[in-house]
Amino acid sequence: MADRASGRGRGTKAGVDRLLRGVGVSSGIAIGPAHVVDAGALLAPEYTIPEDGLEAEVQRFATAADKARRQVRKLKTKSSALPDSAAEEIGILLDAHFAMLSGSRLMRGVEKRIRQDKLNAEAAVQAEITSIAQSFADMEDAYLAARVADVREVGQRLLRNLMQHKYQAFSFLPEGCIVLAEDLSPADTALMDPRRIGGFATMLGGPEGHTAIMARSLGLPAVLGTLGLLQGVQNGDTVVVDGIAGQVCVNPSPDVLDGYRRRRAELLAERAQLKTLRKLPAITRDGTAVTLNANLELPRELDGALEVGASGVGLLRTEFLFMNREDLPDEDEQTEILTRIVASMDGKPVTARTLDIGGEKIATALRGYFSEPTNPALGLRAIRLSLKEPKLLETQLAAMLRAGAHGNLRILLPMISSVAEVRRVREIMATVVRRLRRRGVKIAHPLPKLGIMIEIPGAALSADGLAPFCDFFAIGTNDLIQYTLAIDRGDEQVADLYDPLHPAVLRLVQFTTEAALRARIPVSICGEMAGDPRYTALLLGLGIRELSMAPNNLPVVKRRLRGLDLVEATRRARTIMDQTDQGRIAALLDDFNDAAA
Ligand code: PEP
Ligand code: MG
Repeated sequence: MADRASGRGRGTKAGVDRLLRGVGVSSGIAIGPAHVVDAGALLAPEYTIPEDGLEAEVQRFATAADKARRQVRKLKTKSSALPDSAAEEIGILLDAHFAMLSGSRLMRGVEKRIRQDKLNAEAAVQAEITSIAQSFADMEDAYLAARVADVREVGQRLLRNLMQHKYQAFSFLPEGCIVLAEDLSPADTALMDPRRIGGFATMLGGPEGHTAIMARSLGLPAVLGTLGLLQGVQNGDTVVVDGIAGQVCVNPSPDVLDGYRRRRAELLAERAQLKTLRKLPAITRDGTAVTLNANLELPRELDGALEVGASGVGLLRTEFLFMNREDLPDEDEQTEILTRIVASMDGKPVTARTLDIGGEKIATALRGYFSEPTNPALGLRAIRLSLKEPKLLETQLAAMLRAGAHGNLRILLPMISSVAEVRRVREIMATVVRRLRRRGVKIAHPLPKLGIMIEIPGAALSADGLAPFCDFFAIGTNDLIQYTLAIDRGDEQVADLYDPLHPAVLRLVQFTTEAALRARIPVSICGEMAGDPRYTALLLGLGIRELSMAPNNLPVVKRRLRGLDLVEATRRARTIMDQTDQGRIAALLDDFNDAAA
């Protein structure tokens, strides 16, 4: 990954804490060396090239290098129009770049990495640059140190020619490092391996955006919306990310660092203690069973979900299938991945949601399907895109029907706003079923249950009308809050206005729940509210008996509900629903929670 600390000014001195405030979005404390992501730099995707694709990949790299040489030559021609001394200086620089692009160690190294390591060209360029920069740095020679910038610049040119869009690559970073960036997309975050990355902080982003959700899912401590984050911080500075307090501390003094270390040890001990809850049933003190499911962003979270004793997958966001790649996954690929997930759940239900791309979640391969919307959150997103491009939906439904033959799969539709949309999906599904049967392909029998997300206020208000067309509801409080209160869930500037306890939100949750109970269809909550123990009593008091959340949150929610008297919680929920003031609602809920603690 390219980093140009030089453009960033001097860092703060070690031992002089600089405390920055942001929005803590994922709990835990991470301490490690800073890695600053350069906003202007292109960062490479990583994937493996199959044996029979290696020659084509080498050729792709050669084409990018050809283009780079032409660009450099053109620049040199142009630079000759500059005043003499400038033309000479730039000319020498460009000659050096040209040499690096012609039969140099860089070029040979990249080709070798493609052939031997089966790396894609972008990752091979990135790896080779990192390695050359490191060997120059090891020589401790000022002249060579200055050449590192040139190597990086040539590398960036190659990457630009290879890629059309930006990706992040994190696997070349030092272990345990803290990633600091202006902004990170959900797709960038999906590439972070929690075994290598300690945590991250950004200047932009709000508490319920998908980057925040991804961080929670991966269990990575994270602080978003941190003002002044990138000023005066350098690669290698010690940084603490406190995802609970929503603080970032740069170069903490020894005392402050000790304090963070102690707090981190306490948190780890608490987490270990919570693991003992795994085998205990999720029932309230007065004996009501509650289903606790896991939300999955990425298949690799599956083990974590099983470890904490999830009853099933309440929300499988299938966007991961489309992220960080240039092409679309076909039916077979989707079937294979979904089948693996369904089969590993061993008969436990997996609720797979059809694609919810759009808004802040953009997949490169689908860029051509969108024009630039004025209001992405209100634009062509989720089921709207799937119905506009039925091929996308047909492929997903076919894969889900096929994967359903290997376990217990339910299909969930995002962003439904009308009965007409549900009817249309049912028609498309019937066609797909007929087609698969004609092909003699094994599919789920009986057919999977088809449910909808209730996450648009209009859908919540017509929940009674929608219920007869659906097998279940899943309430998506993240979007429900966003759309009800007109607060962008990913915008740190209005994060303080994003309030799950606003009476309008609670009334919509209540109305939806009651409509589902009357229609005798299951209803769950799978927005982030479900994973916060602060809201457990209120949601159960409103009649919810199924919650789905990031696996890491499941133990704390289980602990909360096991200590809960449901009769009392229902009574408190009634009192709360009579209130119109958010502050009063929060006080009534917090008092109830404190009394139980
Ligand atoms: C929601 O909106 O609450 C939800 C679960 O869906 P997502 O966060 O993926 O939009
Ligand atoms: Mg949603």
